[in-house]
Amino acid sequence: MTKKIVVLGSLNVDNIMKMPRMPLVGETMALTEVTTAPGGKGANQAVAAARQGANVSFIGAVGNDANGQFMRATLLTNGVNVDAVSTNSEVPTGTAYIMLQESGANTILLHGGANQALTVGDLNHALIAEADVLVAQFEVPFEVILAAFKIAKENNVQTILNPAPAVYDLTPELMAVTDIVLPNETEAQLLTGITVINDEGVLNRVSDELQAKGVSRSIITLGDAGSFIADGKKRWWAQPQKVDAQDTTAAGDTFIGTLASVIEPDFSNLEEAVQRANIASAIAVTRPGAIPSIPTSDEVDNY
Ligand code: ATP
Repeated sequence: MTKKIVVLGSLNVDNIMKMPRMPLVGETMALTEVTTAPGGKGANQAVAAARQGANVSFIGAVGNDANGQFMRATLLTNGVNVDAVSTNSEVPTGTAYIMLQESGANTILLHGGANQALTVGDLNHALIAEADVLVAQFEVPFEVILAAFKIAKENNVQTILNPAPAVYDLTPELMAVTDIVLPNETEAQLLTGITVINDEGVLNRVSDELQAKGVSRSIITLGDAGSFIADGKKRWWAQPQKVDAQDTTAAGDTFIGTLASVIEPDFSNLEEAVQRANIASAIAVTRPGAIPSIPTSDEVDNY
């Protein structure tokens, strides 16, 4: 049966500005290239789940502008239902300004816009109640995420939280309605105060600290070191696929969307689901860009 996934999250237009180096204060510098691409963790995760064959609906907001139309069109083209994406005439669509230096290093400025103006009133109760899985990140207001996860839990819908960026706490109230918390190593460090390194002892301590906050299951993604999973007392390190990485943008988002699309209602296949998410995200890092790099289920099957 096709899985119904609702992604509550951010829709951003990425303005990627290529420059030789970071400009100095007061300097005027010519850009070598400017490109525009669809982005936002929510959008990437929704597309990742849709490419795995899930029936995906989006809850979010855009401004009444060309960027908003672009983001709606992007989701629709990728088979994501946008009926619950609202248009806010007061604020613009979210935008990210990515300063990409020739060295490959990037600095990102973000304007949340309509994502930050999302309210509890924008939540489509019935859509969440009828879903199998609800996925959210930390790019929309905390109270909206909490309200959505409460609706989900009242209706036995699985909830996956990607606490990215780590701007809010994992409160006991939110953890009581969250099934899986999925940070990357930076977010895990910010949330626990423990310096995360690729060491089993340290990763166990970080997982203990997350569990002390009420986390039921955690998956810490570790880039080219794979991921570390804690499900109660059971812990394991899922090894990554060995690939020639070109661009890691959206690796984490691909991992989350894929996991959401295959996880069983009782989490009994967590190990296999992580394995599939590892493969999907490894494929994504071998290709440039965010949404264009996300693989289909056939590509993952044939890997
Ligand atoms: P991003 O912010 O770039 O989307 P992230 O920081 O949220 O990513 P990462 O921990 O970097 O997420 O990566 C997520 C998953 O992608 C990893 O757990 C791993 O499975 C896979 N991955 C990332 N980088 C590599 C790599 N170089 N080789 C193989 N797999 C990778």
